[in-house]
Amino acid sequence: MDTTILGLSILELSYIVASVTFILGLKMLSSPDKARKGNLIAGYGMGLAIAATILFKEEFSADKWLNYSLILAGLAIGTVIGMRMAIKVKMTAMPQMVSFFNGMGGACAGVISLVEFDHLRHGGEISAGMLIVILLGLIIGSVSFSGSMIAYGKLEGKIADKALPAGQIINIGLLIAIFGLAGYLAFSGHLSMPLMYALLVLSLLYGVLFVMPIGGADMPVVISLLNSFTGMAAAFGGFLYGNQAMLTGGILVGSAGTILTVLMCTAMNRSLTNVIIGSFGGGGAASTQSGEQGTIKEISVTDAAILLAYANKVSVVPGYGLAVAQAQHTVHNLEKILEDKGVDLNYAIHPVAGRMPGHMNVLLAEADVPYPKLLEMEDANEDMASTDVVLVIGANDVVNPAAENDPSSPIYGMPVVKVWNAKNIIVLKRSMGKGYAGIENELFFHPKNRMLFGDAKDSLEKLISELKNL
Ligand code: NAP
Repeated sequence: MDTTILGLSILELSYIVASVTFILGLKMLSSPDKARKGNLIAGYGMGLAIAATILFKEEFSADKWLNYSLILAGLAIGTVIGMRMAIKVKMTAMPQMVSFFNGMGGACAGVISLVEFDHLRHGGEISAGMLIVILLGLIIGSVSFSGSMIAYGKLEGKIADKALPAGQIINIGLLIAIFGLAGYLAFSGHLSMPLMYALLVLSLLYGVLFVMPIGGADMPVVISLLNSFTGMAAAFGGFLYGNQAMLTGGILVGSAGTILTVLMCTAMNRSLTNVIIGSFGGGGAASTQSGEQGTIKEISVTDAAILLAYANKVSVVPGYGLAVAQAQHTVHNLEKILEDKGVDLNYAIHPVAGRMPGHMNVLLAEADVPYPKLLEMEDANEDMASTDVVLVIGANDVVNPAAENDPSSPIYGMPVVKVWNAKNIIVLKRSMGKGYAGIENELFFHPKNRMLFGDAKDSLEKLISELKNL
């Protein structure tokens, strides 16, 4: 199509607009009140890029009806399945859905490489650079696909953590075979399709064996890492097709995934190697501390309500259990009741509370908790000494003092919310069950602490009805 505006074709303009929407969308995702809109804007941008590619990439010709029908059928099937999954998914199952979608991206990148390799064999213009891009797209896309599917299965509870004996050695052997074969394909001039399929199978196998032994609870970090792989593979696809929107999208996903992986590891005070080869949070990790550390004091709902009602300042520390109990709306109701009684309430947000970055922000934004009430961990910690009551709701590891005072603890060095500096602590959880890291929490035995056992939503509802009577 030769229609141009300011020397740019409609296709190029659409790609520029789409790329801008991706960047804007990503920027808006960093603030809970704009995240929904940002996601939509980037989605519209992607829609524009797809439509422009179909309409303007090549001159429309009726004899390509089969291609158009296949594209439209693929779009329709993908849209229906994606929408159904997105509508039905529970907030707590979000990591596995992200993993599934990410796997689909990896699979697309792998298929693109296979198709383009076949084109090259049938008379395409061959350059070593192009071949390397195709081969890397196949390897990274396939690893991302099979790895993401295993991560999905683990988070759904369908696949158990399993480490093969000598798994590390097998993985290193596989990597050598993969890169040896890729090197041969790239530089021998022998464009063999069977060898390409062998590369596909080896890469898929590597993805499975790479993710299989990683502790199920470490999956958010692994998913983020695989996400960055998919981004890279998509960027290679962008190179192949000279498609700027695909290139920008891929680079953004790749870099955002990498940054997220690094941020999660930093917030947990763990190296990526430790996540990949360690068993923290999986079946293997055990507490380094002895079980009993004192006595546990319980508090009744009435006493807890009185303590809260007569406090000047209350801080809520939400954790994974709040998400499990789906108690975000109930905690917002409690906040409104306490504020009506003149209590100053804030939320102390730990960066890795819950099971995905920003989990608590998303959850509380869903319940319309005003954003200024959400304090970052550092600010909340500064405020802690002047807080009368800290209400820990379904959080465990992110308030564990072992991170500060037990060098033998697996979470030693992880920044935590220092709730023990407040005047009173009330912990809402169902039992003495452990959190993600699978370790004891001495906070529960702290002299200032009292436990209110029960499902977080039930306990909050009981607190609200008591507070209404006060
Ligand atoms: P946590 O340490 O996993 O503890 C959650 C607690 O919630 C459990 O001890 C559980 O105790 C309680 N709970 C579960 N269901 C409940 C319910 N219905 N009502 C009340 N309580 C309930 O959670 P966290 O303190 O939020 O810490 C997050 C952990 O995940 C950290 O170790 C972090 O490093 C890790 N992680 C986070 C991310 C991320 O991006 N956010 C990524 C990877 C890893 P009971 O069973 O006794 O009720």
